[in-house]
Amino acid sequence: MTEALQRFAALHPGPTLVFLGMLGACVGSFLNVCIHRLPKGESVVTPGSRCACGEPIPWWCNLPIAGWLMLRGRARCCGGRISTRYPTVELITALVFAGSWWLLPPAKACAAFVLLPLLILLAGCDLEDMLVPDAPNFALVGAGLMASMFLPELQGQTEHALPAMNRLHSAGASLFGIAVGTAVVWWVRTVGTVLAGREAMGEADIILCAGVGAWCGWEGALFCLFGGSVVGVVTALPGVLSARIKGEEYDGVVPFVPSMAVAGALWFLRGPELVRAWHHWVTG
Ligand SMILES: [Zn+2]
Repeated sequence: MTEALQRFAALHPGPTLVFLGMLGACVGSFLNVCIHRLPKGESVVTPGSRCACGEPIPWWCNLPIAGWLMLRGRARCCGGRISTRYPTVELITALVFAGSWWLLPPAKACAAFVLLPLLILLAGCDLEDMLVPDAPNFALVGAGLMASMFLPELQGQTEHALPAMNRLHSAGASLFGIAVGTAVVWWVRTVGTVLAGREAMGEADIILCAGVGAWCGWEGALFCLFGGSVVGVVTALPGVLSARIKGEEYDGVVPFVPSMAVAGALWFLRGPELVRAWHHWVTG
């Protein structure tokens, strides 16, 4: 079964990418429901999707991306605005699905289909409500450990002749990644809180970094924190600068969870290449 699918994918790369993009858009549509409901503690299964005015939404308005475009961002029932978050999340998830398949070997791409939607979900919840639900965050950690046991190549463990040994080493690398991710954010948070005199990072940041460590090992956890800080500063910079120019105090916050999610995803997709490029650049 999987062999037949892989042969089809190798023979028809174009249709495979289109299909995965469409699948990603549908997953993105479900992520939108989760982003809207999980931080409020609501069920993501029932009731069916409803407009803010209470009217049920017909299925064709729920088509990923296309539904929003057909409606031009306005609800059919009451004319209320539909957030651009909906098509944006669907488009990003579609690109992420097709892109993972394009960039990664098939087994690792299938792991990416679990990891990356979880990162999009956590980032979306933080951006929308500044509230990261614990359940998907812990699921990220648990799924990373499980995936490392099933796919030792996630942690680069393919040397050993005995598959069981590869799995064991891979699980160990995953656990070490969780430990490093937890410890390093805990320290940064503790020192940062003392220096800044206010809460520097949240518990959600610790769990997220541990989760990236579970999937990518300790190097991934470090990159998630420090690469994420760079992403955060770069995205906050325009706001800080424009506040400076207007002579106002900058009151925005650096969105840490989304920045760390971006860094974690980058590492999963292209980590070793990033480090090589960096070495090349530093040493000339
Ligand atoms: Zn409505």
